[in-house]
Amino acid sequence: MAALNTGAGYFIAAEGCGAVQQTSVHRRQLRYYDMPANTPLASAVPRRLTSKLPDVGTTIFTVMSQLANEHGAINLSQGFPDYPCHPALLDALARAAHAGHNQYAPMAGLPSLRQAIAAKLQLSRGIAIDADQEITVTAGATQAIFTAITAVLHAGEEAIVLDPSYDSYAPAIAAQGGVPVRVNLRAPDYAVDWQEVERAVTPRTRLILINNPNNPSTSLFSSTDLDALAAIAERHDLFVLADEVYEHLVFDGLEHRSVLAHPALRARSFAIYSFGKTFHATGWKIGYCVAPPDMTLEFRKIHQFLVFAVNSPAQHALAEHLAEPGHWQTLPAFFQAKRDRLAPGLTAAGFRLLPSRGTYFQLANFSGVRPDMSDVEFARWLTTGHGVACIPLSVFHANGHDAKLVRFCFAKRDATLDAASARLASLSA
Ligand code: PMP
Ligand code: GLN
Repeated sequence: MAALNTGAGYFIAAEGCGAVQQTSVHRRQLRYYDMPANTPLASAVPRRLTSKLPDVGTTIFTVMSQLANEHGAINLSQGFPDYPCHPALLDALARAAHAGHNQYAPMAGLPSLRQAIAAKLQLSRGIAIDADQEITVTAGATQAIFTAITAVLHAGEEAIVLDPSYDSYAPAIAAQGGVPVRVNLRAPDYAVDWQEVERAVTPRTRLILINNPNNPSTSLFSSTDLDALAAIAERHDLFVLADEVYEHLVFDGLEHRSVLAHPALRARSFAIYSFGKTFHATGWKIGYCVAPPDMTLEFRKIHQFLVFAVNSPAQHALAEHLAEPGHWQTLPAFFQAKRDRLAPGLTAAGFRLLPSRGTYFQLANFSGVRPDMSDVEFARWLTTGHGVACIPLSVFHANGHDAKLVRFCFAKRDATLDAASARLASLSA
């Protein structure tokens, strides 16, 4: 066996993937034998560290991208664009660096960037956000998620996670000594049964995490969903972490409904965004968190000792770029065209596609191609044997649920998407 889904939402790679190998999914101790031999303290006794994340291996995104590279596969697995970001953004970055913006930015983020974010929220959603007290610039959405979870959860407290879920949520909860409590959603529509969510609430529950639009299911919340979430959060006095990094990647005229536009939710939510998604710059790792002043205060207490402040020249560049609404208003049409470019190739190859309503991912059922394989086996087979890499869906489910689905990323040049379709044509030949 080359790869294994532990059923814990993590992908443990074995030989052939070139990734970290881990054999036990139980609490285990890491051993460090890395002291130089002549270190006075070096004795035969190894140092021991009890892992806070004993079930965690290398993320599926790293594993599949690495496998794609090793086999020369077209990488439609990890979600990142293969085309350049806007030249104006790059010029702005160079100008900011040359203008001397190379020292620490203010802890909460550059004021001009926070004001540009507030102006965008006013323009796009008609909501007034206080740039000084409610917006914090972070090192990507990942840091914002970790920081919000750290600010809320004390050891032993619970956070509700809707599976399939993004891979950073549960480890961030576990790192605080918290407990992720899973509610499972199912293909094809991944609708939330809010009564089931409420049944998962206990006296120890503090937080509910949502991801809207959802990676990987591509589902979108309706206003009824947000009302139901707000009712539960209010009844049980819970905080909400709303991962809205794909807010602008919504298709077919559908509307993204933000927690920030829902007064009851806005009052108890950390809403989290990523410029990596919005401006095709995943490598810049800059995002932000919007939350009411009292929640932002606690968020910043953690933030200032986690990173203190975020990359200065990039913040200057983003503030300038954000001021032009066309840079984000064009995103739905841009990505919808890419979705529609890849879809026929997948269908022709024998995949049954689920509707892709948002994000830059397409879910595809492969039962018509290789019904005999698990999704993990299929993703590896497609990558190594047919030169197109994808992500198996079961890794987003703590219980390892395998619905015979894989995820393809279409944030790629048209030529890349066409080349992938050409390679996939061999499946139906
Ligand atoms: N949340 C979701 C749902 C994501 O898909 C991603 C990454 N693609 C992130 C958070 C992390 O964003 P960032 O790269 O800004 O840390
Ligand atoms: N969010 C990206 C995805 O879902 C991956 C980000 C990462 O590699 N950590 O593919």
